[in-house]
Amino acid sequence: VSASATDEGNRVVVIGAGFAGLATMRALTGSGADVTLVDRNVYSTFQPLLYQVATGGLNPGDVAYSVRGFVRKRHGRFRHGTVANIDTAGRTVALADGGTLDYDYLVLATGVTVNYFGIPGAAEHTRALYTRAEAIALRDELMGALERVASGRGRDDLTVVIVGGGATGVEMAGTVAELRTAGLAAAFPEINPARVRVLLVEQGPELLSPFHPRLRSYALRQLLDRHVDVRLNTAIRKVTSDSVVLDDGETVHSDLTVWAAGVAAPAGLKAWGLPQREGGRIAVGHDLRVDGQPRIFAAGDIARIDDQPLPQLAQPALQAGQHVAQQIKRLMDGQPTIGFRYHDKGSMATIGRGAAVVELSNGAIRFTGVSAWLTWLGLHIVTLLGGRNRISALVNLGWRYLAWPSGSGVIVGDVTE
Ligand SMILES: Cc1cc2nc3c(=O)[nH]c(=O)nc-3n(C[C@H](O)[C@H](O)[C@H](O)COP(=O)(O)OP(=O)(O)OC[C@H]3O[C@@H](n4cnc5c(N)ncnc54)[C@H](O)[C@@H]3O)c2cc1C
Repeated sequence: VSASATDEGNRVVVIGAGFAGLATMRALTGSGADVTLVDRNVYSTFQPLLYQVATGGLNPGDVAYSVRGFVRKRHGRFRHGTVANIDTAGRTVALADGGTLDYDYLVLATGVTVNYFGIPGAAEHTRALYTRAEAIALRDELMGALERVASGRGRDDLTVVIVGGGATGVEMAGTVAELRTAGLAAAFPEINPARVRVLLVEQGPELLSPFHPRLRSYALRQLLDRHVDVRLNTAIRKVTSDSVVLDDGETVHSDLTVWAAGVAAPAGLKAWGLPQREGGRIAVGHDLRVDGQPRIFAAGDIARIDDQPLPQLAQPALQAGQHVAQQIKRLMDGQPTIGFRYHDKGSMATIGRGAAVVELSNGAIRFTGVSAWLTWLGLHIVTLLGGRNRISALVNLGWRYLAWPSGSGVIVGDVTE
């Protein structure tokens, strides 16, 4: 792949402290690059465990890691702020607070956000699970709904509808169902568990579609065993404050609707004037440079290579972030860039206690059940950023699964009425 960064300069601005942005910064350490990391939050979020925060299994701090702590160890800088625009000709990044940052190389690692697909009422009446704040809001609303039923205010039942049968939807449905079977009796003796309903709606014919058929049917069976009402081949037509309308016209009462149906680039990205592909993802070449922009790279969920659609997962983001750092080093050394090759290390999803699916080595190894769950648990704890987070997450998850029968397995916040 060609190179055409002409004049000297080592100022690198990385936008986004997620898997991709942190990997870029980590791999640039000691390279001589002058790196500034920008994020709208002062923490990096470990999204794979957000559903545990949303169901009261983990504290919000367990999945958040200080960016300043990370940056200090890498001898770079952190700038808290939201990127509002980019001036590619002047090579500056404009922040919403009025600040600007000059760059010689820019790395876009902003991730993506929830996609409502234009479904009426979805944005207004559902809860998403993309940020730490959303996970807390979801937890508080769930707890508030349980308190309402327990105190006999309003309806005497509770329905949680989860839209989307991917990993997030399956994990959320499985955990809420377990909360009902394992935790409710002790914590809410007033509530009849049979009056708490969990409905999972998926418009495709299968759950966990990227996984092998055997693993998909295992996940479905596990959810059915946990008394989750699974509706496949069912799309949502409309959402209201207390219902979802299905495409066959049926209206289902819903006290809490969770939207886990898909992702898209944030709407504001359009204004940055960069080329975009489907889902609004930024168009990059094989070396992960943005099309037509020799000094701008994109990595992670937000980037889309034309003929190489990578899954929007942590591993591709990490590997792409590292690759971007290597290309910046090559350009600073006057060398041409080289193409990115993704090494699929596997994927996994969990349904609940003792139940998960694991696929490794391009599908050569597949397993389910307790061993898969322990693998899932171990890998997520190990890959959590920061030693303290690893310990606190291990303690909190251990506590959750052991203490449920005693009624103290849930971390609480301020319930919403
Ligand atoms: C609920 C959930 C569960 C998931 N589970 C798994 C899983 O089990 N396994 C797996 O591999 N993947 C999972 N994923 C996907 C995985 O989290 C993403 O693929 C990964 O986070 C992508 O990394 P990224 O660096 O591209 O973006 P992100 O991790 O999303 O990071 C983007 C960063 O950019 C910042 N940012 C965005 N816009 C701006 C702006 N304008 N200005 C400043 N900062 C900005 C954000 O604050 C954020 O810190 C899950 C995702 C979700 C939402």
